[in-house]
Amino acid sequence: MKFFATIVGAGPAGLAAAVEFKAREINDIVVFEKGKDICSTIRRLYPDGKRVDKVYKGLELKSEGLCNFETESKEAFLKRMRHYVKKYQIPVQFNTRVENIEKLNDLFVVKSENLIISESFIVIIATGVFERPNMPSYPIPETVKDKVFFRLPNELPKNEKILVVGGGNSAAEIACLLSGVCHVSLSYRREKLFRINEENLKELEKRKDKIRFLLGTDIERLEPYKDQIKVIFKDGSSENFSKIFYCLGGSTPKDFLKRIGVEFINNRPKIDEFGESNIERIFLIGDIAVQKGSIMYAFNSAHKAVTRIIEKYIKIFRR
Ligand SMILES: Cc1cc2nc3c(=O)[nH]c(=O)nc-3n(C[C@H](O)[C@H](O)[C@H](O)COP(=O)(O)OP(=O)(O)OC[C@H]3O[C@@H](n4cnc5c(N)ncnc54)[C@H](O)[C@@H]3O)c2cc1C
Repeated sequence: MKFFATIVGAGPAGLAAAVEFKAREINDIVVFEKGKDICSTIRRLYPDGKRVDKVYKGLELKSEGLCNFETESKEAFLKRMRHYVKKYQIPVQFNTRVENIEKLNDLFVVKSENLIISESFIVIIATGVFERPNMPSYPIPETVKDKVFFRLPNELPKNEKILVVGGGNSAAEIACLLSGVCHVSLSYRREKLFRINEENLKELEKRKDKIRFLLGTDIERLEPYKDQIKVIFKDGSSENFSKIFYCLGGSTPKDFLKRIGVEFINNRPKIDEFGESNIERIFLIGDIAVQKGSIMYAFNSAHKAVTRIIEKYIKIFRR
């Protein structure tokens, strides 16, 4: 459970960072990947047979580290990445979405679904930029889209009838926040809220007269109704709300970074030339670190960050 480095994301950047550590015989590392296989973004967004260009969008970079490739097909590129995983015995834990990172004494505590999944001295964030909040399984009608939210808007609603959907910490936090100024109902498909930390449970308990708990309720579909949204539940009942806040897990990469305390300048995360953020020992590499990324950039930024980490931190860690 204790590691020198935790790497978040098994795309080109995260895997290249792991290769760079392993090649230098630094073995106490772990990679967490939310998908069921490596390189989720490439598998999901590249059409089959797509050419993977080494020079991408005019960005011509020479390989600086151990990972490299020449222009080839999507399938050949994925085979190459699988070869790296096998050759360097990269320890990837799949189906594990990192949701929070907190500092505790000298280590970072990395969490998924409120459980501690690793404690480590260094964290490398290589999540790319394509993460999105989870969506409901039913469509959201075009005409109600302006009343449906996946994060808090800048201006909070007042005196409105709100439905918060979800059973995790974000749902609890939004329900508590709005309960002082709106009529809030919290809909969750299970009978009990079980993915919530103690602090949020206490906050919910304090507001139990202000929040209407609709536990064990599953939404079937939404329909427009005058200037409201008609929510039709699977048991056949329905109710109208003025706004809905969905908190179904997942977040944009930017929200994730902000939540853990990474600072931004001009809408970009604040990092130094090696990818180290304002939080000492948290590094950002690959697409998440730049305006315009590419696979070669991901490989090279991993090399640069790992070289720096070893120079600056390995002795301190081993002392
Ligand atoms: C359609 C398309 C075509 C492209 N073509 C080219 C090309 O020809 N050549 C080129 O060089 N570049 C190309 N790119 C860009 C290239 O794909 C990216 O620059 C590269 O994938 C960046 O690598 P990365 O590791 O930073 O991020 P990603 O490849 O996005 O990998 C991030 C990984 O992190 C995982 N992850 C995200 N959040 C979490 C979390 N919270 N917890 C755990 N895991 C998480 C994701 O599932 C994913 O596996 C293309 C991009 C697109 C969309």
